[in-house]
Amino acid sequence: QPNSQEARDVAYQLHAYTNARSHQQAGPLVIERGEGPYVFDAAGKRYLEAMAGLWSVGLGFSEKRLVDAAHRQMQALPFYHTFASRSHGPSIDLAEKLVKMAPVPMSKVFFTNSGSEANDTVLKLIAYRSNALGQPQRKKVISRLRGYHGVTIASASLTGLPNNHRSFDLPLPNILHTGSPHHYKDAAAGESEEAFATRRAEELDALIQKEGPDTIAAFFGEPVMGAGGVIVPPATYWEKIQAVLNKYDILLVADEVICGFGRTGKMFGCETFNIRPDVLVVSKQITSSYFPFSAIIMNDRMFEPIADESNKIGVLGHGFTAGGHPVGSAVALENLRIIEERNLVAHAAEIGAYMQDRLRTLADHPLVGEVRGIGLIAAVELVLDKTRKVAAGTPGALGGVASRLLLERGIISRNMLDALAICPPLIVTKVQIDELVDGLAGMLEDLKAEAAK
Ligand code: PLP
Repeated sequence: QPNSQEARDVAYQLHAYTNARSHQQAGPLVIERGEGPYVFDAAGKRYLEAMAGLWSVGLGFSEKRLVDAAHRQMQALPFYHTFASRSHGPSIDLAEKLVKMAPVPMSKVFFTNSGSEANDTVLKLIAYRSNALGQPQRKKVISRLRGYHGVTIASASLTGLPNNHRSFDLPLPNILHTGSPHHYKDAAAGESEEAFATRRAEELDALIQKEGPDTIAAFFGEPVMGAGGVIVPPATYWEKIQAVLNKYDILLVADEVICGFGRTGKMFGCETFNIRPDVLVVSKQITSSYFPFSAIIMNDRMFEPIADESNKIGVLGHGFTAGGHPVGSAVALENLRIIEERNLVAHAAEIGAYMQDRLRTLADHPLVGEVRGIGLIAAVELVLDKTRKVAAGTPGALGGVASRLLLERGIISRNMLDALAICPPLIVTKVQIDELVDGLAGMLEDLKAEAAK
């Protein structure tokens, strides 16, 4: 019988995004507790969590007020649902709060439990809406290569990464992909950011024309792409994309699962890029991940056809047992209160600017192809050949070594192939950013020594 935690993990658990056989050899990193932006393993080793868990623990790992809010709600009403006109105070308060804080006029909120579920639900609301409008042919949606929208059958189809399609026979037929706004990787030699953004908008227009504009219901995009490699779009990209969508009366869904609640230095990523969506999808940082939670915030353009009973298409046959869970709603409300009281969005803008400046000093290193980011989200793109922009023969091999070396230095990051993602909790301080950037600089020297072997 295995008895260490590591041995029992290997014996009994299949992990997400983990090669199961190598895991059996290497074993897990077991985290036991957290404090501010740090976590500690069972041996007491401290790690700076430079990914905020999974881009999500905005308030850090020891915010007692969130624990107290959950405890109070557990005692008052541990569960109630929101099916069939039933409701409860925390979900009502939170729905009102989200509508009022949205960056563009919104009117209704539908609650779900994860980013994937929320995006799945948006797809179903879109289909229902098109039927209600008497446009049943209008069911196709467009998302982008390199985008990440989740892993359920439908949300994985929206995701534009080969890893999430391969082996699962995805994407589903009504889900189409257009090119990403990744200037560093996808632009032609010498193509300016402006020309690249124009080309992407023209490609979108051509795809819509080819499919038939009256068959396309919506476009999905993250303001800044996260899991695809932290891709900050060119300055005029969103303006050009929105002009195309407006031309064909296509809904815009902004997936704010990573960007929402301060990450880009504004409350929403949409504000940073002047995006005017019809639907906002939020999760992760809404509860600092202390409770699984997500929400869909929509405007009247989305809601009104759904509410129109004259079309007789029947009740909205969709919802999740735990959607709008009272404990999750209470934690979200407290989390948003803390973000506002402590001015954490302004803090993210200020510390974020400091972090971006300091990270840019790494760009001269021979193994760094590009440093990119905005606010408190960034990526360091690792290369072996700066001019040809290539890493090791196996994509991700260099990034994998880099994140291992960084872990040895007590910093948790995540490599998306050869891009090392940085996304610390919003509460991070200047001193902790220094610790992070110094750690990265040291790691790059270690990596140079390993690459020379
Ligand atoms: N959308 C975005 C932008 C994400 O980054 C993620 C997760 O990382 C998701 C959706 C999916 O969320 P979940 O893992 O909660 O299903």
